[in-house]
Amino acid sequence: MKKSTPRRQFLLQSGALLGAGLLANPFSGWTSPLQKFWTVGEIMDLFISQVPKAPFAQTVDTIKIGSRDTVVTGIVTTMFPSIAIIKKAVELKANLIIPHEPTFYSGQDETDYLQNDPVFRGKYDLLAKHQITIWRNHDYVHRMQDDGVRIGVVEELGWKDYYTPGSPILQIPTTHLKGIIDHIKTRMQVPAMRYVGDLNQPVSKVLLLPGAVGGKTQITRIQEHRPDVLICGESNEWETPEYVKTANELGMKLSMVEIGHSASEEGGSEFVKNWLHTHVPGVPVYHIPSGNSLSVY
Ligand SMILES: [Zn+2]
Repeated sequence: MKKSTPRRQFLLQSGALLGAGLLANPFSGWTSPLQKFWTVGEIMDLFISQVPKAPFAQTVDTIKIGSRDTVVTGIVTTMFPSIAIIKKAVELKANLIIPHEPTFYSGQDETDYLQNDPVFRGKYDLLAKHQITIWRNHDYVHRMQDDGVRIGVVEELGWKDYYTPGSPILQIPTTHLKGIIDHIKTRMQVPAMRYVGDLNQPVSKVLLLPGAVGGKTQITRIQEHRPDVLICGESNEWETPEYVKTANELGMKLSMVEIGHSASEEGGSEFVKNWLHTHVPGVPVYHIPSGNSLSVY
């Protein structure tokens, strides 16, 4: 955090009181006389309150560093809180980062085995130095009335007209596999993608499974829906890609495209940003894409 101004100090020291509700802001002549200050916990609870059957007893959506009681000065949504994202948050004076994915390289963000690791320390200490709180929002956004990530990704792809809420199947105007890949490259700013199948294969029935839902789930959905193409974030090479390759060897019309995990779900972070804009007024919110970790050459 930058050197504290009196106003910032006031916000920090009065966190609990301010977080309790509406309070006149004596320092602000340029905003409304009654300004709501939001704590991390209030924002979490508000989001969770609109998810069916939430809060969940078991969830990865926990605070990874920081505190529920922190008064939020700004929010950054993203897929992965990389060093670049953390530095941008500091620049923007945003002290809450809401990533979709882990901060510390495993599903549960276990850090016991990383305590003396220079990579872990570099990231953790940077977050601590700037007093940034990280709250992962993965399970809750996926389990909204309709999956918020899928809605965001469909919007990013410009496929809203072909989307049925609740369904991973989109019937798009017929193109070929190459056309789909070019479309994704343009819309998601991904320079290249791995695929299985024939680039000239006609495609209209799309099975959209962003992220990494697992080989068995990907193959089960293919069995259920018989799509022309599976579009996913990633998969183990020895699972779905081999299945789709076998299908091609047997003369079946099936293909798959891997966007990369981060890019494939980044639309979900845009969705969360828009949700916060609407429901958490007065707090600056930014969506900053973190980009795929793997490059192509
Ligand atoms: Zn996800």
